[in-house]
Amino acid sequence: APVLLWFRRDLRLSDNPALTAAVSTGRPVVPVFIRDDEDAGDRAPGGASRWWLHGSLKALAEDLSGRGSRLILRSGNAADAIDDLLKETGAEVVFWNRRYEPWATRRDEAIKTSLKERGIEAKSFNAALLCEPWEIETKDGGPYKVFTPFWKALRGLGDPERPEAAPDGIPAPDAFPKTENLDDWKLLPEKPDWAGGLREAWTPGEKGARERLATFVDEAVMAYADKRNLPAKAGTSRLSPHLHFGEVGPRQIWHAAIAAGMSATGQPTPKGVETFLSEIAWREFSWHLLFHFPTLPEEPLRPEFSDFEWKDDDGGLKAWQQGMTGYPIVDAGMRELWATGWMHNRVRMIVASFLVKDLLVHWREGEVWFWDTLVDADLANNTASWQWVAGSGADAAPYFRVFNPVLQGEKFDPDGEYVRRWVPELKDLPANAVHAPWTAKPMELKEAGIELGRDYPHPIVDHATARKRALERYRRMKDGN
Ligand code: FAD
Repeated sequence: APVLLWFRRDLRLSDNPALTAAVSTGRPVVPVFIRDDEDAGDRAPGGASRWWLHGSLKALAEDLSGRGSRLILRSGNAADAIDDLLKETGAEVVFWNRRYEPWATRRDEAIKTSLKERGIEAKSFNAALLCEPWEIETKDGGPYKVFTPFWKALRGLGDPERPEAAPDGIPAPDAFPKTENLDDWKLLPEKPDWAGGLREAWTPGEKGARERLATFVDEAVMAYADKRNLPAKAGTSRLSPHLHFGEVGPRQIWHAAIAAGMSATGQPTPKGVETFLSEIAWREFSWHLLFHFPTLPEEPLRPEFSDFEWKDDDGGLKAWQQGMTGYPIVDAGMRELWATGWMHNRVRMIVASFLVKDLLVHWREGEVWFWDTLVDADLANNTASWQWVAGSGADAAPYFRVFNPVLQGEKFDPDGEYVRRWVPELKDLPANAVHAPWTAKPMELKEAGIELGRDYPHPIVDHATARKRALERYRRMKDGN
Protein backbone atom coordinates (compact mmCIF):
# COMPACT_ATOMS: atom_id res chain seq x y z
CA ALA A 1 0.00 0.00 0.00
CA PRO A 2 1.27 3.49 -0.82
CA VAL A 3 2.13 6.36 1.52
CA LEU A 4 0.02 9.49 1.22
CA LEU A 5 2.28 12.56 1.22
CA TRP A 6 0.27 15.70 1.98
CA PHE A 7 1.94 18.87 0.68
CA ARG A 8 0.90 22.10 2.38
CA ARG A 9 3.24 25.08 2.93
CA ASP A 10 6.30 23.01 2.09
CA LEU A 11 6.21 23.16 -1.70
CA ARG A 12 9.72 21.83 -2.29
CA LEU A 13 11.50 18.51 -2.75
CA SER A 14 14.77 19.29 -0.98
CA ASP A 15 14.95 19.69 2.79
CA ASN A 16 11.52 18.13 3.02
CA PRO A 17 11.46 15.68 5.95
CA ALA A 18 7.99 14.30 5.20
CA LEU A 19 9.04 13.48 1.64
CA THR A 20 12.33 11.96 2.77
CA ALA A 21 10.48 9.82 5.30
CA ALA A 22 7.87 8.77 2.72
CA VAL A 23 10.53 7.70 0.22
CA SER A 24 12.51 5.84 2.86
CA THR A 25 9.56 3.57 3.67
CA GLY A 26 10.30 1.94 0.32
CA ARG A 27 6.60 2.12 -0.57
CA PRO A 28 5.04 3.95 -3.50
CA VAL A 29 4.24 7.61 -2.71
CA VAL A 30 1.07 9.52 -3.60
CA PRO A 31 1.75 13.28 -3.32
CA VAL A 32 -1.35 15.39 -2.83
CA PHE A 33 -2.12 19.07 -2.35
CA ILE A 34 -5.53 19.96 -0.95
CA ARG A 35 -7.06 23.34 -1.62
CA ASP A 36 -8.39 23.73 1.90
CA ASP A 37 -9.85 27.24 1.83
CA GLU A 38 -12.90 25.82 3.55
CA ASP A 39 -10.79 24.94 6.60
CA ALA A 40 -8.91 28.26 6.56
CA GLY A 41 -12.08 30.38 6.46
CA ASP A 42 -11.26 34.08 6.34
CA ARG A 43 -7.57 33.14 6.39
CA ALA A 44 -7.71 31.49 3.00
CA PRO A 45 -5.04 32.97 0.71
CA GLY A 46 -5.72 36.49 -0.61
CA GLY A 47 -5.47 37.54 -4.26
CA ALA A 48 -1.70 37.91 -4.54
CA SER A 49 -1.11 34.70 -2.61
CA ARG A 50 -3.46 32.81 -4.90
CA TRP A 51 -1.47 34.05 -7.86
CA TRP A 52 1.71 32.77 -6.21
CA LEU A 53 0.17 29.44 -5.22
CA HIS A 54 -0.75 28.73 -8.84
CA GLY A 55 2.85 29.18 -9.96
CA SER A 56 4.23 27.26 -7.04
CA LEU A 57 1.95 24.25 -7.56
CA LYS A 58 2.72 24.23 -11.26
CA ALA A 59 6.45 24.18 -10.49
CA LEU A 60 6.02 21.47 -7.85
CA ALA A 61 4.00 19.29 -10.24
CA GLU A 62 6.77 19.60 -12.85
CA ASP A 63 9.48 18.81 -10.33
CA LEU A 64 7.54 15.75 -9.18
CA SER A 65 7.01 14.47 -12.69
CA GLY A 66 10.75 14.90 -13.31
CA ARG A 67 11.18 12.28 -10.59
CA GLY A 68 8.64 9.85 -11.91
CA SER A 69 5.83 11.03 -9.67
CA ARG A 70 2.72 13.17 -9.94
CA LEU A 71 0.96 15.86 -7.91
CA ILE A 72 -2.66 15.01 -7.14
CA LEU A 73 -4.91 18.02 -6.52
CA ARG A 74 -8.06 17.93 -4.43
CA SER A 75 -10.21 20.55 -2.79
CA GLY A 76 -12.69 20.75 0.07
CA ASN A 77 -12.14 20.19 3.74
CA ALA A 78 -8.93 18.31 4.29
CA ALA A 79 -10.34 15.59 6.54
CA ASP A 80 -12.79 14.42 3.86
CA ALA A 81 -10.26 14.78 1.05
CA ILE A 82 -7.82 12.57 2.93
CA ASP A 83 -10.45 9.99 3.74
CA ASP A 84 -11.37 9.79 0.06
CA LEU A 85 -7.75 9.35 -0.94
CA LEU A 86 -7.18 6.63 1.65
CA LYS A 87 -10.16 4.72 0.28
CA GLU A 88 -9.13 5.20 -3.34
CA THR A 89 -5.47 4.27 -2.89
CA GLY A 90 -5.55 1.82 0.00
CA ALA A 91 -2.87 3.89 1.76
CA GLU A 92 -2.43 3.22 5.45
CA VAL A 93 0.16 5.89 6.17
CA VAL A 94 -0.09 9.69 5.88
CA PHE A 95 2.90 12.01 6.22
CA TRP A 96 2.99 15.81 6.24
CA ASN A 97 5.06 18.78 7.41
CA ARG A 98 3.51 20.86 10.15
CA ARG A 99 1.73 24.20 9.86
CA TYR A 100 1.26 26.42 12.88
CA GLU A 101 -1.71 28.68 12.19
CA PRO A 102 -4.27 28.23 14.97
CA TRP A 103 -6.93 26.97 12.54
CA ALA A 104 -4.45 24.55 10.98
CA THR A 105 -3.09 23.11 14.23
CA ARG A 106 -6.65 22.50 15.47
CA ARG A 107 -7.63 20.81 12.25
CA ASP A 108 -4.46 18.73 11.94
CA GLU A 109 -4.77 17.57 15.52
CA ALA A 110 -8.31 16.36 14.82
CA ILE A 111 -7.25 14.61 11.60
CA LYS A 112 -4.36 12.90 13.32
CA THR A 113 -6.54 11.62 16.14
CA SER A 114 -9.19 10.34 13.81
CA LEU A 115 -6.65 8.58 11.56
CA LYS A 116 -4.95 6.93 14.49
CA GLU A 117 -8.29 5.72 15.86
CA ARG A 118 -8.77 3.90 12.59
CA GLY A 119 -5.32 2.32 12.69
CA ILE A 120 -3.85 4.63 10.06
CA GLU A 121 -0.34 5.85 10.75
CA ALA A 122 -0.18 9.67 10.72
CA LYS A 123 3.13 11.43 11.17
CA SER A 124 4.10 15.09 10.95
CA PHE A 125 7.52 16.70 10.56
CA ASN A 126 9.13 20.11 10.80
CA ALA A 127 10.06 21.73 7.51
CA ALA A 128 9.19 25.35 8.28
CA LEU A 129 11.01 26.43 11.42
CA LEU A 130 14.47 26.29 12.94
CA CYS A 131 12.89 25.38 16.23
CA GLU A 132 9.41 24.16 17.16
CA PRO A 133 7.51 26.84 19.09
CA TRP A 134 7.08 24.50 22.06
CA GLU A 135 10.71 23.46 22.19
CA ILE A 136 12.07 26.79 23.30
CA GLU A 137 11.05 28.45 26.53
CA THR A 138 12.18 31.04 29.06
CA LYS A 139 13.88 30.10 32.31
CA ASP A 140 10.50 30.26 34.02
CA GLY A 141 9.09 27.80 31.56
CA GLY A 142 6.81 30.08 29.52
CA PRO A 143 6.90 31.42 25.98
CA TYR A 144 9.14 34.33 25.04
CA LYS A 145 7.57 37.75 24.63
CA VAL A 146 10.76 39.68 23.95
CA PHE A 147 12.84 39.15 20.85
CA THR A 148 16.42 39.53 22.09
CA PRO A 149 16.37 36.77 24.71
CA PHE A 150 14.41 34.60 22.26
CA TRP A 151 17.12 35.06 19.66
CA LYS A 152 19.82 34.38 22.22
CA ALA A 153 18.13 31.11 23.15
CA LEU A 154 17.65 30.11 19.52
CA ARG A 155 21.22 31.04 18.67
CA GLY A 156 22.38 28.99 21.64
CA LEU A 157 20.98 25.85 20.04
CA GLY A 158 23.77 26.07 17.45
CA ASP A 159 23.48 25.48 13.73
CA PRO A 160 20.33 23.67 12.60
CA GLU A 161 20.65 20.25 11.01
CA ARG A 162 22.02 20.16 7.51
CA PRO A 163 19.15 20.01 5.04
CA GLU A 164 18.60 16.85 3.03
CA ALA A 165 18.91 16.87 -0.75
CA ALA A 166 15.85 16.06 -2.87
CA PRO A 167 15.44 12.33 -3.49
CA ASP A 168 16.57 11.20 -6.97
CA GLY A 169 13.37 9.39 -7.66
CA ILE A 170 10.00 9.01 -5.98
CA PRO A 171 8.41 5.57 -6.32
CA ALA A 172 5.03 5.74 -8.04
CA PRO A 173 2.00 3.55 -7.35
CA ASP A 174 0.65 1.31 -10.14
CA ALA A 175 -2.09 3.85 -10.69
CA PHE A 176 -2.45 7.39 -9.36
CA PRO A 177 -5.86 8.50 -8.08
CA LYS A 178 -7.68 11.11 -10.13
CA THR A 179 -6.69 14.74 -9.83
CA GLU A 180 -8.42 18.06 -10.24
CA ASN A 181 -7.09 20.47 -12.82
CA LEU A 182 -5.06 23.41 -11.52
CA ASP A 183 -6.46 25.81 -14.11
CA ASP A 184 -9.98 25.01 -12.93
CA TRP A 185 -9.09 26.44 -9.52
CA LYS A 186 -8.92 29.87 -11.13
CA LEU A 187 -6.20 31.12 -8.84
CA LEU A 188 -5.00 33.60 -11.45
CA PRO A 189 -6.76 36.92 -11.96
CA GLU A 190 -8.69 37.19 -15.21
CA LYS A 191 -10.43 40.51 -15.71
CA PRO A 192 -8.73 42.76 -14.87
CA ASP A 193 -5.39 40.98 -15.04
CA TRP A 194 -3.51 42.86 -12.34
CA ALA A 195 -0.64 40.37 -12.16
CA GLY A 196 1.68 41.78 -14.83
CA GLY A 197 4.01 43.36 -12.29
CA LEU A 198 4.03 40.17 -10.23
CA ARG A 199 5.00 38.06 -13.23
CA GLU A 200 7.85 40.45 -13.95
CA ALA A 201 9.14 40.45 -10.38
CA TRP A 202 8.89 36.82 -9.33
CA THR A 203 9.44 33.18 -10.25
CA PRO A 204 7.39 31.05 -7.86
CA GLY A 205 8.66 27.53 -7.20
CA GLU A 206 11.64 25.77 -5.68
CA LYS A 207 13.97 26.59 -8.56
CA GLY A 208 13.12 30.29 -8.37
CA ALA A 209 13.71 30.19 -4.61
CA ARG A 210 17.07 28.46 -5.01
CA GLU A 211 18.20 31.04 -7.56
CA ARG A 212 17.05 33.93 -5.39
CA LEU A 213 18.94 32.54 -2.41
CA ALA A 214 22.10 31.96 -4.47
CA THR A 215 22.04 35.49 -5.86
CA PHE A 216 21.50 36.98 -2.43
CA VAL A 217 24.32 35.09 -0.70
CA ASP A 218 26.68 35.79 -3.64
CA GLU A 219 25.90 39.46 -4.03
CA ALA A 220 24.24 41.00 -1.01
CA VAL A 221 24.46 39.15 2.28
CA MET A 222 27.87 40.59 3.23
CA ALA A 223 26.52 44.14 2.91
CA TYR A 224 23.12 43.29 4.40
CA ALA A 225 23.66 45.15 7.66
CA ASP A 226 24.43 48.40 5.79
CA LYS A 227 21.92 48.17 2.94
CA ARG A 228 18.89 46.41 4.42
CA ASN A 229 17.15 49.68 5.27
CA LEU A 230 17.51 51.31 1.85
CA PRO A 231 14.39 50.57 -0.18
CA ALA A 232 15.91 51.73 -3.47
CA LYS A 233 18.67 49.12 -3.25
CA ALA A 234 18.48 45.35 -3.71
CA GLY A 235 19.85 44.96 -0.19
CA THR A 236 17.51 42.27 1.16
CA SER A 237 16.91 38.71 0.02
CA ARG A 238 13.30 38.95 -1.20
CA LEU A 239 12.92 35.38 -0.07
CA SER A 240 9.76 36.08 1.94
CA PRO A 241 7.17 34.63 -0.47
CA HIS A 242 9.40 31.63 -1.18
CA LEU A 243 9.72 31.08 2.55
CA HIS A 244 6.02 31.53 3.14
CA PHE A 245 5.13 28.83 0.62
CA GLY A 246 7.95 26.60 1.80
CA GLU A 247 9.82 26.61 -1.50
CA VAL A 248 12.91 27.07 0.61
CA GLY A 249 13.31 26.43 4.32
CA PRO A 250 15.13 28.32 7.06
CA ARG A 251 17.70 25.52 7.52
CA GLN A 252 18.71 25.87 3.88
CA ILE A 253 18.92 29.64 4.19
CA TRP A 254 20.95 29.40 7.38
CA HIS A 255 23.52 27.05 5.90
CA ALA A 256 23.81 29.02 2.66
CA ALA A 257 24.38 32.24 4.61
CA ILE A 258 27.08 30.87 6.91
CA ALA A 259 28.82 29.19 3.96
CA ALA A 260 28.92 32.60 2.25
CA GLY A 261 30.35 34.15 5.41
CA MET A 262 33.03 31.45 5.58
CA SER A 263 34.09 31.84 2.00
CA ALA A 264 34.26 35.64 2.21
CA THR A 265 35.97 36.01 5.60
CA GLY A 266 36.88 32.61 7.01
CA GLN A 267 34.22 33.21 9.69
CA PRO A 268 30.70 31.76 9.48
CA THR A 269 28.94 34.87 10.77
CA PRO A 270 30.51 38.17 9.81
CA LYS A 271 28.27 41.17 10.52
CA GLY A 272 26.12 40.95 7.38
CA VAL A 273 25.38 37.26 7.91
CA GLU A 274 24.71 37.66 11.62
CA THR A 275 22.24 40.49 11.00
CA PHE A 276 20.53 38.47 8.28
CA LEU A 277 20.19 35.42 10.55
CA SER A 278 18.62 37.62 13.22
CA GLU A 279 15.94 38.69 10.71
CA ILE A 280 15.27 35.05 9.94
CA ALA A 281 14.87 34.74 13.70
CA TRP A 282 12.19 37.48 13.69
CA ARG A 283 10.17 35.13 11.54
CA GLU A 284 10.69 32.36 14.08
CA PHE A 285 9.70 34.78 16.85
CA SER A 286 6.46 35.70 15.06
CA TRP A 287 5.51 32.03 14.77
CA HIS A 288 6.46 31.48 18.39
CA LEU A 289 4.11 34.33 19.37
CA LEU A 290 1.26 33.14 17.16
CA PHE A 291 1.56 29.60 18.48
CA HIS A 292 1.48 30.66 22.11
CA PHE A 293 -0.91 33.59 21.68
CA PRO A 294 -3.36 32.33 19.06
CA THR A 295 -5.52 35.46 19.33
CA LEU A 296 -2.63 37.52 17.88
CA PRO A 297 -4.47 38.04 14.54
CA GLU A 298 -7.50 39.56 16.27
CA GLU A 299 -6.66 40.86 19.72
CA PRO A 300 -4.00 43.27 20.95
CA LEU A 301 -1.36 41.41 22.95
CA ARG A 302 -1.32 44.33 25.35
CA PRO A 303 -4.86 44.28 26.68
CA GLU A 304 -4.98 48.03 27.41
CA PHE A 305 -5.10 48.59 23.63
CA SER A 306 -8.61 47.11 23.55
CA ASP A 307 -9.72 50.56 24.72
CA PHE A 308 -7.86 52.52 22.07
CA GLU A 309 -10.19 54.86 20.16
CA TRP A 310 -9.59 53.98 16.52
CA LYS A 311 -11.17 56.15 13.88
CA ASP A 312 -13.44 55.20 10.97
CA ASP A 313 -11.86 56.93 8.03
CA ASP A 314 -12.90 55.33 4.75
CA GLY A 315 -11.48 58.19 2.72
CA GLY A 316 -8.13 58.02 4.48
CA LEU A 317 -7.98 54.24 4.21
CA LYS A 318 -8.72 54.42 0.51
CA ALA A 319 -6.08 57.09 -0.12
CA TRP A 320 -3.59 54.92 1.76
CA GLN A 321 -4.49 51.80 -0.23
CA GLN A 322 -4.16 53.65 -3.51
CA GLY A 323 -0.91 55.40 -2.68
CA MET A 324 -2.53 58.86 -2.76
CA THR A 325 -1.85 60.22 0.73
CA GLY A 326 0.36 63.09 -0.43
CA TYR A 327 3.33 61.68 1.54
CA PRO A 328 5.69 60.40 -1.16
CA ILE A 329 7.42 57.62 0.78
CA VAL A 330 4.05 56.24 1.92
CA ASP A 331 2.62 56.42 -1.58
CA ALA A 332 5.71 54.85 -3.12
CA GLY A 333 5.43 51.89 -0.74
CA MET A 334 1.73 51.36 -1.33
CA ARG A 335 2.25 51.49 -5.08
CA GLU A 336 5.20 49.10 -4.94
CA LEU A 337 2.92 46.74 -3.04
CA TRP A 338 0.14 47.02 -5.59
CA ALA A 339 2.46 46.60 -8.56
CA THR A 340 4.70 43.78 -7.31
CA GLY A 341 2.94 42.16 -4.34
CA TRP A 342 5.88 43.05 -2.09
CA MET A 343 7.12 46.07 -0.17
CA HIS A 344 10.46 46.78 1.43
CA ASN A 345 10.48 46.23 5.21
CA ARG A 346 11.49 49.80 6.11
CA VAL A 347 8.63 51.12 4.02
CA ARG A 348 6.17 48.59 5.48
CA MET A 349 6.96 50.11 8.87
CA ILE A 350 6.48 53.64 7.56
CA VAL A 351 3.16 52.99 5.80
CA ALA A 352 1.84 50.99 8.75
CA SER A 353 2.75 53.72 11.19
CA PHE A 354 1.06 56.28 8.95
CA LEU A 355 -2.17 54.28 8.89
CA VAL A 356 -2.40 53.57 12.61
CA LYS A 357 -0.95 56.80 13.98
CA ASP A 358 -1.44 59.58 11.45
CA LEU A 359 -4.84 58.30 10.32
CA LEU A 360 -5.78 56.43 13.54
CA VAL A 361 -7.23 53.60 11.46
CA HIS A 362 -7.28 50.22 13.21
CA TRP A 363 -4.24 48.09 12.35
CA ARG A 364 -6.52 45.25 11.33
CA GLU A 365 -7.67 47.27 8.30
CA GLY A 366 -4.07 47.51 7.20
CA GLU A 367 -3.39 43.89 8.00
CA VAL A 368 -6.34 42.77 5.89
CA TRP A 369 -5.19 44.90 2.93
CA PHE A 370 -1.71 43.41 3.21
CA TRP A 371 -3.24 39.94 3.45
CA ASP A 372 -4.89 40.41 0.07
CA THR A 373 -2.08 42.21 -1.74
CA LEU A 374 1.20 40.71 -0.45
CA VAL A 375 2.70 37.66 -2.15
CA ASP A 376 4.34 36.88 1.19
CA ALA A 377 1.17 37.41 3.28
CA ASP A 378 1.83 35.30 6.31
CA LEU A 379 -0.44 35.03 9.34
CA ALA A 380 2.35 35.16 11.91
CA ASN A 381 4.66 37.74 10.32
CA ASN A 382 1.87 40.00 9.18
CA THR A 383 -0.13 40.16 12.39
CA ALA A 384 2.92 40.25 14.67
CA SER A 385 4.42 43.07 12.60
CA TRP A 386 1.20 45.10 12.56
CA GLN A 387 0.92 44.75 16.31
CA TRP A 388 4.57 45.73 16.59
CA VAL A 389 3.96 48.96 14.68
CA ALA A 390 0.68 49.68 16.46
CA GLY A 391 2.43 49.38 19.81
CA SER A 392 0.04 46.68 21.00
CA GLY A 393 2.39 43.76 20.34
CA ALA A 394 4.57 41.84 22.76
CA ASP A 395 7.96 43.35 22.00
CA ALA A 396 6.64 46.39 20.18
CA ALA A 397 7.73 49.82 19.12
CA PRO A 398 6.37 52.12 21.85
CA TYR A 399 3.20 53.83 20.63
CA PHE A 400 4.55 57.28 21.36
CA ARG A 401 7.34 56.83 18.86
CA VAL A 402 5.61 58.12 15.73
CA PHE A 403 7.44 57.84 12.42
CA ASN A 404 7.75 61.13 10.57
CA PRO A 405 7.25 60.12 6.93
CA VAL A 406 9.29 63.03 5.59
CA LEU A 407 12.30 62.42 7.83
CA GLN A 408 12.11 58.67 7.25
CA GLY A 409 12.13 59.30 3.52
CA GLU A 410 15.06 61.67 3.72
CA LYS A 411 17.03 59.29 5.86
CA PHE A 412 16.46 56.01 4.03
CA ASP A 413 15.88 57.26 0.49
CA PRO A 414 18.22 60.27 0.49
CA ASP A 415 18.23 60.88 -3.28
CA GLY A 416 14.57 60.06 -3.65
CA GLU A 417 15.43 57.20 -5.99
CA TYR A 418 12.74 54.93 -4.53
CA VAL A 419 10.08 57.64 -4.58
CA ARG A 420 10.91 58.56 -8.17
CA ARG A 421 10.61 54.91 -9.21
CA TRP A 422 7.14 54.38 -7.74
CA VAL A 423 5.66 57.89 -7.84
CA PRO A 424 6.81 58.95 -11.27
CA GLU A 425 4.83 62.19 -11.20
CA LEU A 426 7.44 63.44 -8.70
CA LYS A 427 10.49 62.25 -10.59
CA ASP A 428 11.69 65.68 -11.66
CA LEU A 429 11.52 67.30 -8.24
CA PRO A 430 14.90 68.12 -6.67
CA ALA A 431 16.08 65.88 -3.82
CA ASN A 432 15.37 68.57 -1.20
CA ALA A 433 11.64 68.49 -2.02
CA VAL A 434 10.97 64.99 -3.28
CA HIS A 435 9.86 63.77 0.16
CA ALA A 436 7.78 66.89 0.87
CA PRO A 437 6.55 68.35 -2.41
CA TRP A 438 4.50 71.02 -0.59
CA THR A 439 7.79 72.62 0.49
CA ALA A 440 9.05 72.95 -3.08
CA LYS A 441 9.43 76.45 -4.44
CA PRO A 442 6.83 77.42 -7.07
CA MET A 443 9.63 77.45 -9.65
CA GLU A 444 10.71 73.91 -8.71
CA LEU A 445 7.16 72.62 -9.02
CA LYS A 446 6.77 74.35 -12.34
CA GLU A 447 9.99 72.91 -13.70
CA ALA A 448 8.97 69.44 -12.54
CA GLY A 449 5.60 69.92 -14.24
CA ILE A 450 3.57 69.43 -11.08
CA GLU A 451 0.62 71.24 -9.70
CA LEU A 452 -0.21 69.96 -6.23
CA GLY A 453 -3.82 68.93 -5.94
CA ARG A 454 -3.95 68.22 -9.66
CA ASP A 455 -1.00 65.95 -10.48
CA TYR A 456 -0.25 64.78 -6.97
CA PRO A 457 -2.37 65.17 -3.83
CA HIS A 458 -1.82 67.64 -1.01
CA PRO A 459 -1.05 65.72 2.20
CA ILE A 460 -4.33 64.25 3.48
CA VAL A 461 -3.32 65.08 7.06
CA ASP A 462 -0.77 67.44 8.55
CA HIS A 463 1.77 65.15 10.20
CA ALA A 464 2.54 67.42 13.17
CA THR A 465 -1.16 67.80 14.00
CA ALA A 466 -1.86 64.12 13.44
CA ARG A 467 1.01 63.16 15.71
CA LYS A 468 -0.35 65.29 18.53
CA ARG A 469 -3.80 63.79 18.07
CA ALA A 470 -2.39 60.25 18.20
CA LEU A 471 -0.42 60.95 21.35
CA GLU A 472 -3.48 62.45 22.96
CA ARG A 473 -5.53 59.31 22.25
CA TYR A 474 -2.72 57.17 23.54
CA ARG A 475 -2.65 59.19 26.77
CA ARG A 476 -6.43 58.85 27.13
CA MET A 477 -6.18 55.09 26.66
CA LYS A 478 -3.45 54.80 29.27
CA ASP A 479 -5.32 56.98 31.73
CA GLY A 480 -8.50 55.05 31.05
CA ASN A 481 -10.64 58.05 30.03
P1 FAD B 1 15.04 39.93 4.40
O1 FAD B 1 15.46 41.19 5.03
O2 FAD B 1 15.91 39.37 3.31
O3 FAD B 1 14.82 38.88 5.53
C1 FAD B 1 14.85 37.47 5.30
C2 FAD B 1 13.61 36.81 5.86
O4 FAD B 1 13.52 37.02 7.26
C3 FAD B 1 12.31 37.36 5.30
O5 FAD B 1 12.01 36.77 4.07
C4 FAD B 1 11.33 37.02 6.39
O6 FAD B 1 10.90 35.68 6.30
C5 FAD B 1 12.16 37.18 7.64
N1 FAD B 1 11.96 38.53 8.19
C6 FAD B 1 12.66 39.64 7.90
N2 FAD B 1 12.22 40.69 8.62
C7 FAD B 1 11.20 40.23 9.37
C8 FAD B 1 10.35 40.84 10.33
N3 FAD B 1 10.45 42.12 10.69
N4 FAD B 1 9.40 40.07 10.91
C9 FAD B 1 9.28 38.76 10.58
N5 FAD B 1 10.07 38.14 9.69
C10 FAD B 1 11.02 38.87 9.09
N6 FAD B 1 6.82 39.41 6.40
C11 FAD B 1 6.24 38.34 5.82
O7 FAD B 1 6.94 37.39 5.48
N7 FAD B 1 4.90 38.31 5.61
C12 FAD B 1 4.07 39.33 5.96
O8 FAD B 1 2.86 39.23 5.76
C13 FAD B 1 4.66 40.48 6.55
N8 FAD B 1 3.89 41.56 6.89
C14 FAD B 1 4.50 42.66 7.47
C15 FAD B 1 3.71 43.75 7.84
C16 FAD B 1 4.27 44.88 8.41
C17 FAD B 1 3.40 46.02 8.82
C18 FAD B 1 5.66 44.93 8.61
C19 FAD B 1 6.31 46.14 9.23
C20 FAD B 1 6.46 43.85 8.26
C21 FAD B 1 5.89 42.70 7.70
N9 FAD B 1 6.68 41.59 7.33
C22 FAD B 1 6.08 40.48 6.77
C23 FAD B 1 8.11 41.50 7.71
C24 FAD B 1 9.12 42.00 6.66
O9 FAD B 1 8.76 43.25 6.19
C25 FAD B 1 9.28 41.03 5.48
O10 FAD B 1 9.49 39.72 5.94
C26 FAD B 1 10.46 41.42 4.60
O11 FAD B 1 10.32 42.73 4.12
C27 FAD B 1 10.57 40.46 3.44
O12 FAD B 1 11.58 40.85 2.56
P2 FAD B 1 12.91 40.01 2.41
O13 FAD B 1 12.59 38.58 2.16
O14 FAD B 1 13.75 40.70 1.39
O15 FAD B 1 13.56 40.16 3.84
